[in-house]
Amino acid sequence: MYPNYEVIRNEKKCINCNLCLNQCSNEVFYYENEELCSDDSKCVNCHRCVELCPKRALKIVKSDHVYKDNNYWTKDDLEDIYRQANSGGILLSSMGNPQKYPIYWDKMVINASQVTNPSIDPLREPMETKTFLGKKSANIKRDKYGKIITTQPPQLKLSVPIMFAAMSYGALSYNSHESLARAATELDILYNTGEGGLHKNLYKYGKNTVVQVASGRFGVHKDYLEAGVAIEIKMGQGAKPGIGGHLPGKKIIGDISKTRMIPEGSDAISPAPHHDIYSIEDLRQLVYSLKEATDYKKPIIVKIAAVHNVSAIASGIARSGADIISIDGFRGGTGATPTRIRDNVGIPIEMALASVDQRLREEGIRHTVSLIASGGIRNSADIVKALALGADAVYIGTSAMLALGCHMCRSCHQGNCNWGLATQNPELTKRLSIEQGYKNLVNLVRAWEHEITDMMGGMGINSIEALKGNRLMLRGIDLNEKELQILGIKYVGE
Ligand code: SF4
Ligand code: SF4
Repeated sequence: MYPNYEVIRNEKKCINCNLCLNQCSNEVFYYENEELCSDDSKCVNCHRCVELCPKRALKIVKSDHVYKDNNYWTKDDLEDIYRQANSGGILLSSMGNPQKYPIYWDKMVINASQVTNPSIDPLREPMETKTFLGKKSANIKRDKYGKIITTQPPQLKLSVPIMFAAMSYGALSYNSHESLARAATELDILYNTGEGGLHKNLYKYGKNTVVQVASGRFGVHKDYLEAGVAIEIKMGQGAKPGIGGHLPGKKIIGDISKTRMIPEGSDAISPAPHHDIYSIEDLRQLVYSLKEATDYKKPIIVKIAAVHNVSAIASGIARSGADIISIDGFRGGTGATPTRIRDNVGIPIEMALASVDQRLREEGIRHTVSLIASGGIRNSADIVKALALGADAVYIGTSAMLALGCHMCRSCHQGNCNWGLATQNPELTKRLSIEQGYKNLVNLVRAWEHEITDMMGGMGINSIEALKGNRLMLRGIDLNEKELQILGIKYVGE
């Protein structure tokens, strides 16, 4: 098939320094008859060569090669069929769903105070961005002397309602993981191990770590469970609802094999279901086994993909004893997933979050769980909208990856990430400096924190707690009655 991209080199500007040749892990560049050439078919448009070229002599353009016009059978449809007719296999992709479904974040606008209920200047007045996740008491309780009992079930404290989403060591490089761990520690927030276990060097970041227990149970042992401040049971994820995971044996090397506790070279296959969970009662057993194993000191998070009936599922999870529910929408990223699943299964986080929050309120059990929203959080405005729709915090995955240097070439599944993130090739992993990676993550979260307090101040709100579930702060635009009803918001002008 004709390549999707073309590498254009300006020969007048090029000084033949060979940097592009040496930097490209996809081996796009080569010499022929002493002339620097490029094999466009290998280019994934990761921009490594473009950004590093000292003379700005390179650009990547989309190929203008076309098939005969057809409004139904698109170029992608044709090429996917050619690929599968050739390979006989399923198509794999990385990152989140890129299809043209509605983006509900962009169909909601945020309120600001005018005249009455004056706005607050966040530069001059205190703004509280701290938040706590976990079960809360329904009523104020007092001891026999009338004093309020303030003890709560175990809580997670976040300086700002942002957490780094689960991304496993193995899918990501060691340097990526340590960057996330250091940034979470500096920011006083949390990062998440994902399903690949916890490298022994990262135990020191335990106070800012969520450890994950997924269906493959890789790297799960007593010390691991003790290491983090919370345990997340992964039932599903937005990028691949209903299916398991697969890290190929060629990536299971060295420390990854030790951390996952599986032999080098063996495929790490996470089954689609947990083989001991087929009901809410079964889930409850795992929730309480993990609580028991850690002396009831750590909140248990249950992560699910946003799917049909998500509110009924969440209601069951709240009743299973879980302290926090994490809901991952269909824009959620991943290192590898079948393309058809990524692009067609699941629902948007905006709708899922609003319907779960509403249902838990109607059932009178909202206080028994906190909600974390994830799956395509792109900026601070998305976070403010998520909080107003009922989230207690958000997970960011793709945004964190972008801060680390990802250029969204969406070829993580090939294992050759030129930016050193989604790869285990030692020549590539060293391209990400932990020092730089963690600083970029800290900068991103700090910048978003400033923007969140600006927006809160504009609304006349001075604490995250007052923003949570405050749907009066949102109005819908370009939405139909049903969408407004599910989101629980009014139309602009109302
Ligand atoms: S990096 Fe730029 S200047 Fe160096 S060889 Fe490649 S195109 Fe030429
Ligand atoms: S992590 Fe690397 S391979 Fe994956 S999309 Fe980003 S730049 Fe591409």
